[in-house]
Amino acid sequence: MLSNSLNFSGGPGALPACVLEQTQQAIVALPETGLSILGMSHRSPWFKALLLEAQENIRQLLNVPERYHVLFLQGGSSLQFSMIPMNFAAQARAPAEFVTSGYWSGKAVGEAAAVVDARVVWDGAADGYRKLPTWNSLQRSEGAPFFHYVSNETVEGLQFRNAPASNGVPLIADMSSDFLSRRFDIGEYAMVYAHAQKNLGPAGVTVVLIDDAMLARIPDGLPPMLDYRTHVTHGSNYNTPPVFSIYVLNLVSRWLRDEIGGVDAMQRINARKAATLYDVLERHDDMIELHADHAARSVMNIAFRFKEPQLHERFLVEANAAGFSGLEGHRSIGGMRASLYNAVSESAVQQLAQLIAEFGRRNG
Ligand code: PMP
Repeated sequence: MLSNSLNFSGGPGALPACVLEQTQQAIVALPETGLSILGMSHRSPWFKALLLEAQENIRQLLNVPERYHVLFLQGGSSLQFSMIPMNFAAQARAPAEFVTSGYWSGKAVGEAAAVVDARVVWDGAADGYRKLPTWNSLQRSEGAPFFHYVSNETVEGLQFRNAPASNGVPLIADMSSDFLSRRFDIGEYAMVYAHAQKNLGPAGVTVVLIDDAMLARIPDGLPPMLDYRTHVTHGSNYNTPPVFSIYVLNLVSRWLRDEIGGVDAMQRINARKAATLYDVLERHDDMIELHADHAARSVMNIAFRFKEPQLHERFLVEANAAGFSGLEGHRSIGGMRASLYNAVSESAVQQLAQLIAEFGRRNG
C-alpha cells in the first residue's frame, strides 16, 4: 500500500493528515453548516466569509500590504501565462522579457509569444537546464512592460535564491512550486502567482497577488474572465469559484499558521529536509547524479538519476513496495524527482534518505 505520508509527488502533492481528515468530514457535512462542502453555494454568507479568511490568512502569512489584491482564480498557473501578457503587454511598445530557466518558464514564454512580443533574456537550454543566471549578468531593457521568471523550476529542481532588481520594470514571478515554502518580500514584485497543488491545497485554484497599480495598465476590451479587474471587483466571486479547493486551501493556511508556526518556521523545516536528502544523494555520487548545479539547487524539488539505468526501475519497485510514491522524474527529463513540499514531513524525508542509503549499500 502506498502511504499519504510518503508522497513525494511533484504535484498534486502531499497534504497534511489533519487537513485530509477535516476534508473527509467536510465532504459529508461541514461542522458549521451541516451541508457537504461539495454542495455549498458560492453566494452563501459562509462561503463569503471563507473567501475573506483565506485571503486574510495569505496576507498574514506573507505580510502582504493592502495595496496588493489577493485573488483566487481558475485555469491553473498555465492560464496566467496568457493572462499576464494580455493584461500587461498587449499595447506595449517593447517586448515583454523572460528568463527561460527550465520546462515551466519555457511554457510561459511560448504561451506569451502567442499573444504579444516576447523576448528571452537568458536561456538555460544549452546546458540542459542545470544552472541559473546571476541577476546582474542579464541584459534587460528598461522599457519592457514586465519581466517574468519562475522562482522554482519544478521539473529540473532549480530555485532562485532572491528576487532580481526591478529596474523600473514590473516584476512578475511564477511561484507555483515554492509559494509559502519560504519568506519573500511581496513589495519587490508587481505580481506573483501560484497554483494550489504544491504547497497550498488541491488543484483547481490559483492564488494571484497583484499590486493595485498594475490594474491601470490593463487595456479595455478584454473578455471579462481574462481581465484581472473583473476578479478584483467581484472579490474572486465573479463566476462560480472552486469552492472545494478554496476550502482546503484555507485549512492548509490555518495548518501552516497554527501547527507549523508560519512561513519562517516552514522555511527552516524545509531547509533541513533538503539538506538531509542532498546529503545522502551526494554520499552516493558513485551511483547517483544530481541534475542541478550546486548553486542552483532547489529546496522543493530534487531531481537525480541513477547512473546505471537498471537501478532506476529497481529503486522504484522497492520504493513503491515500502509505501513511497511520486518519485519518478518528469516525463521531459526522466530520472527521479523527490518533491519536498510543505506537507512532506521531516520524518518522511529521513525515511527516504534511509531507503536510498540502504539501496546504495546493496547495489553500490
Ligand atoms: N508553473 C510551474 C512552476 C509549475 O510547476 C506548473 C505545473 N506543475 C505550472 C506552472 C503549470 O500549472 P497548471 O498545471 O496549474 O497550469
